Amino acid sequence: MAPVTVNDTGVTKSFQPQQIEDRLFINGEFVPSISGKKFDVYNPTTEKLAASVYEADVEDVDLAVKAAKEAFPAWSALSAAERTSYLNRLADAIETNAGELAYLEAITMGKPYVDDFSIKLSVYNLRYFSGKALDVTGDSSLNTKDFVNLTLRQPFGVCGAITPWNVPLLMLINKVGPALATGNTLVLKSSEKSPLSSLVIGRLAQEIGLPKGVLNILSGYGRPCGEAIAKHMDIRKVSFTGSVVAGRAIKKAAAESNLKKVTLELGGKSPLIVFEDADLAKAVPAATMSILLNSGQSCIASSRIYVHESIATQFTENMKAAMAELFPAADPLIAGTGRGPQVDKAQFDRVMSYLDYAREKKLTVPLGGGRQGTTGYFVEATIISNAPEDSKVMKEEIFGPVVCVNTFSDESEVLQRANDTEFGLYASVFTKDISRALRVAKALEAGSVGVNCSSPTMAVDLPFGGWKQSGDGRELSKYCTDYWTELKSVFISL
Ligand code: NAD
Repeated sequence: MAPVTVNDTGVTKSFQPQQIEDRLFINGEFVPSISGKKFDVYNPTTEKLAASVYEADVEDVDLAVKAAKEAFPAWSALSAAERTSYLNRLADAIETNAGELAYLEAITMGKPYVDDFSIKLSVYNLRYFSGKALDVTGDSSLNTKDFVNLTLRQPFGVCGAITPWNVPLLMLINKVGPALATGNTLVLKSSEKSPLSSLVIGRLAQEIGLPKGVLNILSGYGRPCGEAIAKHMDIRKVSFTGSVVAGRAIKKAAAESNLKKVTLELGGKSPLIVFEDADLAKAVPAATMSILLNSGQSCIASSRIYVHESIATQFTENMKAAMAELFPAADPLIAGTGRGPQVDKAQFDRVMSYLDYAREKKLTVPLGGGRQGTTGYFVEATIISNAPEDSKVMKEEIFGPVVCVNTFSDESEVLQRANDTEFGLYASVFTKDISRALRVAKALEAGSVGVNCSSPTMAVDLPFGGWKQSGDGRELSKYCTDYWTELKSVFISL
């Protein structure tokens, strides 16, 4: 392939792309699918074919599970230091190949190439997870007479992981890191919309000499491939990130097969509350970034803003200016692009259907409201004002650059409205009153709360996950290894 020339500011290096890998990564080797079937992935900027990729079916899942099962005894018997060393080398290899990874994400899901935050975060998180291998320890107790009692944390064995398309590499790392650090072996299915960067991790695993079968990477659809993982009798735990609908199907498949443990990272409809004393110079850019980063295709996007009525006009004017100026939409391969298109036609149509709804219901749309350009799945940055609380745009996850801005007059009333949702992933509050900030942070029903900041503010050493239908279990932080290990009590009679 010809070298890729990207108008790069120097943050990520230009590179000579390898042949785009289209095969499945099973037992340390790249192989075509057994059926030989392939599926197409399109570049959402050009609407042209980006790659045809082998599609994993039930038999390919079986092969991958068999490889992972054979690899488990030796991998779990390694010292934590040895597993740490493999993961650190994988992090180094990702860093070295950051340009290629960012390029593949740009041409499949439209993520801006230059300064791709998610590739850097993937490296950072993987280094954190590699250190976690040494922290998998138990407790001891002398509280029973004539006994020394212990708890042990041990890997499940073969685990499954299913990832979404919106932040492909980071979502993969948040599963591969703790799964392998704790001594499990893994069968991971990437999203059918953005499988290419995940396959590079297979090549890098080969390059660093990761033992065969420890990590298997499949490209394929939710059905049959994802479903086969969720149902597999030899998989003891599955970690899923994606929509509520698929999360529910996976829990059901787990319940109907071997009752494997399931952790879920699902969607959101995150509220952001701006009180009358808020610093708008801080609140407006934070709210703008939260909804426009990744073209609004973020589970933690603050998509419902509640502004105190006394500053609502000012806030909306400032937000209009910020949304028009920050994160300009353009080709993700051009430096200075703040956001790319929606991932594909289906997602574009979905976002447009909410804009059609706003038009049909005659909702106030002070900014945007339509398609941007004629080629590529670009949507205008959009504000919808004062939509009814029970309207579709206020209740459902749009997953696009579309934010609802409503007003409120009273703290208890806004809390009731902010919490009136089945989601509970992220919430934010902007105020200078410290007592109110803490009171509201406590009252908000969400797994993460930003005070005078909003998503994507997170930290690798703090747990991440959802309340209510936004999830089950936690990723990141010292708690992450709990979800990748079984707990055993050992009673030693003296
Ligand atoms: P999706 O649920 O459509 O797909 C996610 C993955 O699940 C894909 O790999 C897909 O092939 C697979 N899948 C679909 N149906 C399945 C089934 N029945 N059995 C097994 N696997 C199945 O979600 P998406 O469109 O890829 O991602 C967007 C969603 O993900 C949004 O709702 C977003 O909020 C959520 N998300 C959540 C987080 C988080 O950390 N909480 C992070 C990113 C995205």
